[in-house]
Amino acid sequence: MLKEIVVRNVKRIQENVYNFSMKTLPPSEWAEKNLILSSESKFYGLFSYNRSPYTREVVDNMKPNSGVEVTAIMKCSQSGYTQSVAIPCMIYHIAESPANVMFLSSSDKMVQNTIRGRFDTVMESSGLSSLLKTSSVKKANQRTGDTDFKKEYTGGTMINATYSPTNLRFHSVEVVVADEYDDAPKTDKKEGSIFDLVIARTKSYADTRRLVFMSSPTTKGISNIEQVYEMGDKRKWNWKCPCCSQYIPILWRVEREDGTFGGIKWVLDENDKLIDNSVHYECQLCRGKIEYKSKYALNLTGEWVPTAVPEKPSYRSYSFNALCNPPGFESWSDLVRQWLKACPKNEPIDIDALKVFTNTQLGELWEDRGTTPRATSLMSNIGVYEIGKIPDKTCDIDGNGKIVLISLCCDLGGIMDMVNGIEDVRLDWEIVVHTSNGQTYSVNHGSVGTFKRSRWRNKKDRERESDRQMWTFNYGLPNSVWDKFKEIIYTPLEGESGLYYDIDITLVDTGHFTKLAYNFITGIKDRLVVGIKGDTVEKPRATDKNSPIISHSRENKGLLYILDVNLLKEQLASNMALIQGSDGSQPSGFMNFPQPSEGKYNLKSFFSHYESEHRIPVVKNGQEVGFAWKKKREDNHFFDVAVYGLASREIFIADLRLIDPKNKNLTWLELCERINSRM
Ligand SMILES: [Zn+2]
Repeated sequence: MLKEIVVRNVKRIQENVYNFSMKTLPPSEWAEKNLILSSESKFYGLFSYNRSPYTREVVDNMKPNSGVEVTAIMKCSQSGYTQSVAIPCMIYHIAESPANVMFLSSSDKMVQNTIRGRFDTVMESSGLSSLLKTSSVKKANQRTGDTDFKKEYTGGTMINATYSPTNLRFHSVEVVVADEYDDAPKTDKKEGSIFDLVIARTKSYADTRRLVFMSSPTTKGISNIEQVYEMGDKRKWNWKCPCCSQYIPILWRVEREDGTFGGIKWVLDENDKLIDNSVHYECQLCRGKIEYKSKYALNLTGEWVPTAVPEKPSYRSYSFNALCNPPGFESWSDLVRQWLKACPKNEPIDIDALKVFTNTQLGELWEDRGTTPRATSLMSNIGVYEIGKIPDKTCDIDGNGKIVLISLCCDLGGIMDMVNGIEDVRLDWEIVVHTSNGQTYSVNHGSVGTFKRSRWRNKKDRERESDRQMWTFNYGLPNSVWDKFKEIIYTPLEGESGLYYDIDITLVDTGHFTKLAYNFITGIKDRLVVGIKGDTVEKPRATDKNSPIISHSRENKGLLYILDVNLLKEQLASNMALIQGSDGSQPSGFMNFPQPSEGKYNLKSFFSHYESEHRIPVVKNGQEVGFAWKKKREDNHFFDVAVYGLASREIFIADLRLIDPKNKNLTWLELCERINSRM
């Protein structure tokens, strides 16, 4: 059958040799008449745009005189755009409307894979290989007219290269196909923006050039495809809703004015497992149900709808997610399963997994800011219990299990300039109860010392400055912070039940006042007091790394622990985003706070600290290598203290492991299970 098609095709081409009509077919029509997929392909036979109708308009932007200069596609990672846009566009500009072409991809390997695996095979199965010069002379190392990196034909040359600035410097082309565009260097310090570098290659064809950029996006603010997408008219793929006949963009989740959501919907069974046949699309307009099986037919009714005014009328941009992929790709149920892995019910969100899902399936930019909830929403976690009391009864009523650990953590700040006699410090502390079901209850917080950075002092602070008592980290002085802190460590805490509790573990920040903090820690023998230190501040956390949250210090094993601060902040941010179930149940990691009073647990004095840092991507040599948390404002003490609180569980376990070999493999979860089974 395939052979017949080839024969018919070749015959048709031969017949047309004497047909001098100047009509140029749009690339999609031309491809459907001339391109044949080989039997190795899943969909062999004459190429058709019916499987991916959304790519038809995009490839037709590449027709000469289409009026479209720049096309950007911000998309999910698997979507058929290489097969339906990149390859037909390249072959069209060899066989139908010859021009100088440049194909760009992320690495030599990716270039080779696309050229050998896709381009060469389609050229061959379509009977077009003979259009390439010297394709018959294929002696090793002597391929000149037809190599993976260069194809020559009557009327032009196609260069296939990576995004390295050296590759981009020499060629002048009319058509650019830029694939895997977000893998290109983010910005090259010496050479400038990658977009400027690419478009500079088409300078001699300023009136007729056509460029298409394709990629799944990365992080907002540093994504390459974002930059080109933003310049265009931001088209979205719309279906005609079978229920209300209106055109709707097909999106994962669409908020309606009344606060409800349209988009993908599903139901979980009593074991929180996905009920497969419950997955469907709910129209954001009429709330009608759209079944997965109607996807193929609805894609055929699809239309691209612009949503923005482009920078130039000749700039078009498209965003496309995996919901509209042709059958044969991941189904809606597969996507829901991936989503549930990243956002499990009643558990903290896996931010890394959610980022991957957002970028590669939804084809959307990842916004780090969105992962730190506002302090005001954290304030809705204020419970009914009193400051300073261990909420043992509340914990029981909330169904959160037993109290496993009471931690006291502190953050040190200020100036200890002993040479010039300036000692002005402060210590911020918080006591937290950790339950066997994973929730926490903040019990009390406070500050010893009055230090404030001068630029953060307001008028009232400045007026009071003269009679402000300054505190010190030195010992044996009446204004020593340590005596006050010691009192907190040794004062038993009364529970709501009338029982008394001791602090189980105290963590002291030794990052800045190392020696003075050490003196304090080593001076206490009858309580578990340990030092903590963040790992090297500037080291970004790799997004795909699985290192432990805490580790022993080599010099002071058992006394000092090194924290992976970026990972801890990540976990804290997911805990902050947790919300109570409609039945009042609290997910593991949920953070409770007592009733504010006497200036404690206010927005300004406490909760605003949780907004003081944000997660930002780290770019090295043009690539996104990980993320780091950076300060937005000075008052972040209680955010840091909360980070230490999260680490206190792991350090408590590490200490149990050290003192008793029986505990060698103990984990926090095991300890909690043991305590729960005793109930
Ligand atoms: Zn509808």
